[in-house]
Amino acid sequence: MNYQGVLTKMESEFAQPIQYYLVFENDFINMNQLLGKTISIRFEKYQCLNCGLNKPIYRQGFCRDCFFDIPQAADWVIRPELSKAHLGEEDRDLEYEKKVQLQPHIVYLANSSDVKVGVTRKSQVPTRWIDQGAHEAIEIVETPNRYLAGITEVALKDFVSDKTNWRTMLKNDIKDEDLVAWRERLKSSIPEEAQDYFIENNSEINLEFPVLQYPVKPKSLNLVKAQSYTGKLVGIKGQYLIFEDDTVFNIRSNEGLVVTITVA
Ligand SMILES: [Zn+2]
Repeated sequence: MNYQGVLTKMESEFAQPIQYYLVFENDFINMNQLLGKTISIRFEKYQCLNCGLNKPIYRQGFCRDCFFDIPQAADWVIRPELSKAHLGEEDRDLEYEKKVQLQPHIVYLANSSDVKVGVTRKSQVPTRWIDQGAHEAIEIVETPNRYLAGITEVALKDFVSDKTNWRTMLKNDIKDEDLVAWRERLKSSIPEEAQDYFIENNSEINLEFPVLQYPVKPKSLNLVKAQSYTGKLVGIKGQYLIFEDDTVFNIRSNEGLVVTITVA
C-alpha cells in the first residue's frame, strides 16, 4: 500500500491505548494498525501549510515568508503571555487573534519526562497532552482568555519546568508523580489576577500510548537529509513514530513535508 501527502501532526483519539491517525488530503491511516509492520517513508518535496509552495519549511510547517507574516505563527502562539486581543490590540490580525485568544484556556501540569507547566485552549484537552507524550496530566487553572493563562504559566515556571526532555519521554524513563499534590503546592504562586480561576477539585488523567518496545538510545530521523527510511514500527508516543532500530521520527517537527509512505 502507498500513501502520499503532506505531513501534518497526527490526529488522535483518547482511548486505551490512544489511537493515532495520519490524515492526508484523500486518505487517512490509522497508525496503530501499522504497529509491528515494516514501513518506508520517502521525502518528495516541501509544501508550506499556508501558501502550498515547494519552499523549505522554516518552522511549524510554514515557509520563512509565511512564518513571519501569518497570524497563526505570531509570537503569542508560543508565548501566550504576549497575547493582547483582550486589550483590543492587534499583533498581526486582530480578528484572528480575538477568535483564538478570547476563549477558555487551561493551565495544566503534565508529566512526560518531568512535571512541566503548559497552556492550551480548553478545546485542545487532552490532545495537547497526547501530543507531548505525557503519561499523566491535570488541569489546574481555567481562564477566560489566553493572556491570563500565559502570565500564570510564566509565574509557575519559577517552580516547575516548561520543557519536555524528548529522549526521556521516549525511553519511558518515567516516574509517577502526585499531580494533585503539585497543584496544591503551586496554588499560592498563581498570580493575583488568575487566583479566582484555580481549579480546586479534579484528579489527574492517565494516558496510555501504543508502544510495543521503547527505544534504548533514540536517534532522530532527519528525513530531508536521509531522503528515505525503512523500518519496523514498534510504537507511537507524543507525535513520534518509534522504530525497532531506535530510530524515531517526529511527525510534528516535519509538518509541511510531502512524503510517500509504503507499507510492506
Ligand atoms: Zn508559505
